[in-house]
Amino acid sequence: MTHLILFFEGRLLLNGDSPMWPSNRFIDLDAVTHCRVHVPSLVADQPPCDALQLSSLPAQLADIEPMPVRQFLLHQGFDAFILAGRASQLLNWYRTHRYCGSCGARNVLRQPQRALMCPRCEVDYYPRINPCIIVLVTRGEQILLARSVRRGATFFSCLAGFIEPGESAEQAVAREVYEEVGLSITNIRYVKSQPWPFPSQLMLGFYADYVDGEIVPEAAEIAEAHWYDVDKLPETPAPAISVAGQLIQEYCDAVMASADQ
Ligand SMILES: [Zn+2]
Repeated sequence: MTHLILFFEGRLLLNGDSPMWPSNRFIDLDAVTHCRVHVPSLVADQPPCDALQLSSLPAQLADIEPMPVRQFLLHQGFDAFILAGRASQLLNWYRTHRYCGSCGARNVLRQPQRALMCPRCEVDYYPRINPCIIVLVTRGEQILLARSVRRGATFFSCLAGFIEPGESAEQAVAREVYEEVGLSITNIRYVKSQPWPFPSQLMLGFYADYVDGEIVPEAAEIAEAHWYDVDKLPETPAPAISVAGQLIQEYCDAVMASADQ
């Protein structure tokens, strides 16, 4: 049986704690379905699943308060969130690629390729993924953490930014660190990645070693940035939520473990 992940006005309609609804719970959602895309199974135990953007709420769902996708991640952690995140990313791609960017014709959805095709140009448009780097700059037993200028940003995290056209991920790491805090770095090494569907980033996580320079925050992006001892950190992202939290925790744990030996 197909399961459904339901969205209304870009927010999730949860079935208790779960984003999944058995399709036999509903008699007919077609009348209120604005668009529907298949969510590919990327793990062995995932049931067949479709994402639906509803244009209005049927009476059966009228009592459910739709939840912002990011809030669902913060509540449930990344592992529980990933499928809903993928559904949200695919629906957003579908919504923003309904017309061919070259000739303006209406694209048609091709299943199971999950491509939108322009029938006039015969060009396929695949779901867009935007690669970003996220980097923890380290100086021995200290790490560099920054607070964003974004409204409501209370925690301190790694530096991050989009990879520019023609740029390698490592070049983007060095450029972002220099632009955002004015430091030069070396020994840039890839650690792990995480899809971040807000709306379509892939975060590539790195460590890098400090070389020289004084911290000069770029005012448009960074409210403040400081060196922190690994055992005296400010509020940082949770490892269960983001790769930033994992980079910070794993580095600090490793430093403290080696100090104990
Ligand atoms: Zn076209």
